[in-house]
Amino acid sequence: MISLVYPRGTLERAAARAMKWVAAGYDLASPHRRGIVVLAYHRIGRRSSLRVDLPEWLFDEQMERLAEGAGVIDLDSALAALAQDAPVGPDPAVVTFDDGTADFVEVALPILVRHRVPATVYVATRFVDEGRSFPHEGPPVSWAALADAVSTGFVTVGSHTHSHALLDRLPASVVGEELDRSVDLIGERLGVTARHFAYPKALPGSHAAEAAVRRRFVSAALAGTRPNPYRTTDAYRLARSPLQVEDGLTFFTRKVSGGMRVEDSVRQLANRFRLGLVRE
Ligand SMILES: [Zn+2]
Repeated sequence: MISLVYPRGTLERAAARAMKWVAAGYDLASPHRRGIVVLAYHRIGRRSSLRVDLPEWLFDEQMERLAEGAGVIDLDSALAALAQDAPVGPDPAVVTFDDGTADFVEVALPILVRHRVPATVYVATRFVDEGRSFPHEGPPVSWAALADAVSTGFVTVGSHTHSHALLDRLPASVVGEELDRSVDLIGERLGVTARHFAYPKALPGSHAAEAAVRRRFVSAALAGTRPNPYRTTDAYRLARSPLQVEDGLTFFTRKVSGGMRVEDSVRQLANRFRLGLVRE
């Protein structure tokens, strides 16, 4: 009934924001944990209606705050820092992007360069190589544009498999092909070595898949909105904090300072509830 009165999107946005306030409230009651937060972006520029497609102005503001605040370091520096004790100063953050859509170069990159923010983009190479659109109006970046991005010195290219494959459900032989194809293409087309990996949909693979990832890369990213702790982080299970439109600047700031960890659990619960409803 309610959906007849309010557009569906409005209710979903309100629910998403309510969830975020719950997570923020939980933070007040839990101790601050030190570590490095790895932010996960998907799209910038609102060319789609996805919740992970942020308006350009918001991303610009977020990068400005990051650059002026505790600072941003690239993924390799973060891995080196995570092997040490916590620094005396504030904890830096890391910026990452998933997939390899055109907006990364067209919209996000000029903002990153302007604020001197380094970023890692995990590319699903098949879409780029075949010029095939990602789901939800996501035209791929071209190899030439990605090469230009790398030449700015601010962009590291990692692997996100070849065909955005979900590694938890593939035989080991196919996992190896998925990883090798993406690494080979990034090497051939960009002249760089893909040393970092992000699991598509943040789904950890089977034991065999995880072993295949560990053999080929120096790090691998999953989900989990929380800081990666110094000294004890497994570089192959990096937690990443995804950003959504509803984060605005308020919840963005909280995520950067290591908060909102309950958001993941709340979202998982909500998903289970939604799936339960669908099954019935
Ligand atoms: Zn992805």
